[in-house]
Amino acid sequence: MIVSIASGKGGTGKTTVAVNLALLLSRNGSQNIHFLDCDVEEPNAHIFLKPHIDSFESVGIPIPEIDEQKCTYCGICAEVCVYNAIAVVHPVRSNSTEQDVSSLTRTSNGVKDKVLIFPELCHGCGGCSLLCPEEAISEKEREIGVLEQGRAEGIKFVHGKLNIGEPMAAPLIRAVKEKITSHGIAIIDVPPGTSCPVIEAVKDSDFTILVTEPTPFGLNDLQLAVETVRKLGLPCGVVINCSDVGDEKVKEYCNEEGIPILAEIPYDRTVAILYSHGIPILIEGEKYRTIFQQMWDSIEKEAKQIKKEKR
Ligand code: SF4
Ligand code: SF4
Repeated sequence: MIVSIASGKGGTGKTTVAVNLALLLSRNGSQNIHFLDCDVEEPNAHIFLKPHIDSFESVGIPIPEIDEQKCTYCGICAEVCVYNAIAVVHPVRSNSTEQDVSSLTRTSNGVKDKVLIFPELCHGCGGCSLLCPEEAISEKEREIGVLEQGRAEGIKFVHGKLNIGEPMAAPLIRAVKEKITSHGIAIIDVPPGTSCPVIEAVKDSDFTILVTEPTPFGLNDLQLAVETVRKLGLPCGVVINCSDVGDEKVKEYCNEEGIPILAEIPYDRTVAILYSHGIPILIEGEKYRTIFQQMWDSIEKEAKQIKKEKR
């Protein structure tokens, strides 16, 4: 079973929910608990789980490399690249007409035609090399980040760390998710928001927990998150963090939309202190254990119901 923990915005307590849920299941004796931190731009679950990291992998994407000896500068690669990561430029003579430009040869006034590659825009889809009529494109790996694996309290831990300034998060998220095994429970800490990395992280989940706060901002971002997971056809439930501050609008919205509220976590200064020291809140004892156990029971109930409806 794959359970992803997402939120429409950062700072709602998404990682707190993910980490403590994984710890609860592990401490309950569940085998094969897998924790995947897919918030690759800013992974922080390791601060709480403190895994012993025992393997590292470089993750990259294949970017094109041009063999200038074979290239005829036909421009097909630039046409097929929907990401504008490749351009074919021709030297233009100052007195050229449109006719001249279309019939330019490889050089003009000593300036050569050129294929330009913009590695940061390349998604590594391989389309250009596949369609190059001269087989002039080979691929070389460009590192976008690293993947680290280890163990924490019996939990198999994986996270991705995206290189600083690197825009291409999705391939690293995919690499982290490839470590999910077919048995056991996988808990995915999803990046905040509703953009491409979020979709990459939540897709294929059996259930998505949306963490929010009972404020107008929380409600707005929850609505966006609900829209996203519904478009992907994923079942979801809501966890309300700091549930005793703010207003009732989140609950009213969930009731109207038929979205189950899986748990409410009240505001507690102790939680903030524990968080700032990198300590999971389950350490606070029975109160939080009960909340997370109820949360998991609700998820299992929802998952069973969904299975029944599908039959
Ligand atoms: S498709 Fe191939 S031959 Fe044509 S410009 Fe691109 S690299 Fe050169
Ligand atoms: S690999 Fe894909 S994204 Fe990259 S330059 Fe080629 S067509 Fe564009």
